[in-house]
Amino acid sequence: MSAAARPLPAEPMSPLGQLLRQRIGAEGAISVYDFVDVCLYDARHGYYRVREPLGRDGDFITSPEISQIFGELIGLWAVETWRAMGAPAQVSLIELGPGRGTLMADALRASRVAPDFQKACSLHLVETSAPLRDQQWRNLEPFGLKIRWYDALEQVGPGPAIVIANEFFDALPVQQFVRLADGWQERCVVLDADDAFAFGVAPAATAPPAGAPTDAEDGEIFELRPGGDEVIAQLARRGADHPMSALVIDYGHLASACGDTLQAVRHHGRADPLGAPGETDLTAHVDFAALARSACAAGLQVWQPLEQRAFLLSLGLAQRCAQLEAAAGDAGKLGVRAGAHRLVDPDQMGTLFKVMAIGSANLPAPPAFEHAWDGGAHGGLAAR
Ligand code: SAH
Repeated sequence: MSAAARPLPAEPMSPLGQLLRQRIGAEGAISVYDFVDVCLYDARHGYYRVREPLGRDGDFITSPEISQIFGELIGLWAVETWRAMGAPAQVSLIELGPGRGTLMADALRASRVAPDFQKACSLHLVETSAPLRDQQWRNLEPFGLKIRWYDALEQVGPGPAIVIANEFFDALPVQQFVRLADGWQERCVVLDADDAFAFGVAPAATAPPAGAPTDAEDGEIFELRPGGDEVIAQLARRGADHPMSALVIDYGHLASACGDTLQAVRHHGRADPLGAPGETDLTAHVDFAALARSACAAGLQVWQPLEQRAFLLSLGLAQRCAQLEAAAGDAGKLGVRAGAHRLVDPDQMGTLFKVMAIGSANLPAPPAFEHAWDGGAHGGLAAR
């Protein structure tokens, strides 16, 4: 073999990759869901247990890390939503997957315009990552509110609540199903002839996944997110006894449809989802229609999603940007504008990201939202 044709030496397998290879060698194929679940949540090596994914030195960047306006507007949204609940004397501000705590810090700073709201608030952070919990503490401790951390939403005590989830649902693992001639089969990870990870399918057929199009073609993939439905069930339990309003912001689609959306991101670029287990961020698009159907079936009210662009502009992004530009002067003005633009630009985060509100049955539409939505057979976007 010539030097040019010789395969490149493979990257040394990560510790989690070695564990997964042993497991598949011993047990046979494991589902994509189990593979991703181990990659993200393995107690010792899981990506969302031990890594610091955000920021320039990390793997990806999120809206609150791009511009303070994002968290500020959500803080004002929370104040108005609390008032619409009748301004309960105590309200739990719950954030799912708070990252570095940046969104919450900006939200709390902005909500100082409503001291009665701040007085009513306690902070409840649902976070699996130890290093991120440390960062959240550093960023949020100065606000002087009571803060508690949890591994899962079900551990947060009852009471009126406002729940914020930015780029949380996309992190929850998906199951993938492949349409084949004989029906649906779950997509798996196997070892190929070279002992490398490869996609395959489970030997036995499964029932058609809920919500899958009946006209799916051979080879098409449909995804389900069991953890997303579980979070919705938890919201429904909370929302049945006390006023609850949740804001779900994520990238994804508004109609349940076939497609392989599993993606890996590392150092701000696309990566192989099966390469470097535990060292790469693995996410998949959020199926907003599926979440809405779960929420409606559980007795919650869902408000038709808006694109992030429409949501932020209707809450006053342009006005806040102008204020900050004026305060930043010539030196800082361009940076302020560039950050705000990135959040709403249709070619960047403005339309790929959607915002959906979910709440207890009797609450009015929260700020920026208008129409009730049941996820429909085909989904759809609120017109503005
Ligand atoms: N909301 C933040 C961070 C988004 S990244 C922002 O906008 O910047 C995803 C966040 O969810 C991280 O904080 C990650 O550690 C956390 N996370 C991922 N899966 C989780 C799970 N199952 N339970 C709780 N937190 C989780």
